[in-house]
Amino acid sequence: MNLGGLRYLVVGAGLWGLVLAERIASQLGERVLVLDRRSHSGGNCYAAKDSETGIERHIYGTHVFHTSLPRVWEYLNRFTSFTNYRHRVYTEYRGRVHPLPLGLAAINSFYGFRLKPWEMEEFIRKESGGGEFPDPANLEEKAVSLVGRPLYEAFIKGYSQKQWGRHPRELPPEIISRLPVRSSYNTDYFDDLWQGMPSQGYTALFARLLRHPLIDLQLGVEYASIADMVPKDCQILYSGPIDAFFNYSRGALEWRGLRFEWETVPYSDYQGTAVMNQADLEVACTRIHEFKHLHPERGHHGPKSVIAREYPTACQPGDEPYYPVNTTDNECLHAAYLQDASELPRVIFGGRLGSYKYLDMDKTIASALECFDQLRARQGLDYWEKKS
Ligand code: UDP
Repeated sequence: MNLGGLRYLVVGAGLWGLVLAERIASQLGERVLVLDRRSHSGGNCYAAKDSETGIERHIYGTHVFHTSLPRVWEYLNRFTSFTNYRHRVYTEYRGRVHPLPLGLAAINSFYGFRLKPWEMEEFIRKESGGGEFPDPANLEEKAVSLVGRPLYEAFIKGYSQKQWGRHPRELPPEIISRLPVRSSYNTDYFDDLWQGMPSQGYTALFARLLRHPLIDLQLGVEYASIADMVPKDCQILYSGPIDAFFNYSRGALEWRGLRFEWETVPYSDYQGTAVMNQADLEVACTRIHEFKHLHPERGHHGPKSVIAREYPTACQPGDEPYYPVNTTDNECLHAAYLQDASELPRVIFGGRLGSYKYLDMDKTIASALECFDQLRARQGLDYWEKKS
């Protein structure tokens, strides 16, 4: 691999890296090399067609695009159109199925009530012990204050314990901020203004982000194996795990991993929805994905369906990391790595792994666009975009 004269190196071909590569090539007119240790681009959004059924499988679990950020929506629409898919999730608990997120539909289904929206607030207040946690310090307190203890025990406690490998009392309250709580029958999983699936799939989207002739993608390459060859003045945009970059010199950050068990089932429709959560602690998997439901417009009416059962795992250095575990201890360790990073002006860390943040796809793209703004400002270039 010829790295001579290279001015931009992107490590990790996930969304953060691909957006930066696209911007650098199209706006700065600079050559950029993108590396990924995996055999495909797209990071955890990667999807591939199942050869038997033609169904697009999300290899690292269901990814539905949703955002309320105009800049991100406008940017991505230059590379793909989106379907009007709206994500709806159900959860199984003790032999019954309830709609998510936690709102009037879930509450009335769970209790067999017919509460009205204006009765919900008072009901939750009573269920949570009359405002027991005005300033929640952890996930349990936050969830109880939002939906009351019985619903927390049913829908949150077991699921979160399995997902994160620890009691919700040991987890930060922000985790649950991702899930809306509503006093209506709206069962959209996301509140965002714009939602949908890339019409031609994720792989086509990544190919379009990468198609600029100044972008060179090299797959199956570990950054460590070429680190010594990178020119000293090359700008490195690194979206691998930050602890791995420093060779775990201060210790390993904690991550959660996932394992998927794939099955082609002899049903045209296995579960009637794309994602069925499993709230019981005794059921080892956290959710079951059925991918054909993500693209109803494709008319997959064949006699088979493809499903994947998702199992959270502990993650050792070298395993595929999915979720940062943002406990206080891990945050302290991350802060120490950030200190090390501040001494390397030529390296910028980003993406879910590089920034050790639980980022959604749209926030990842937003942070890549902001990072590019800074790069460009640093270059003293004007802000008018060249035609892509
Ligand atoms: N969660 C839960 N029960 C559910 C769904 C989610 O307790 O049925 C909690 C859990 O702690 C999870 C967090 O809410 O990690 C965020 O859920 P989300 O569906 O956004 O997770 P992601 O799709 O990012 O894995």
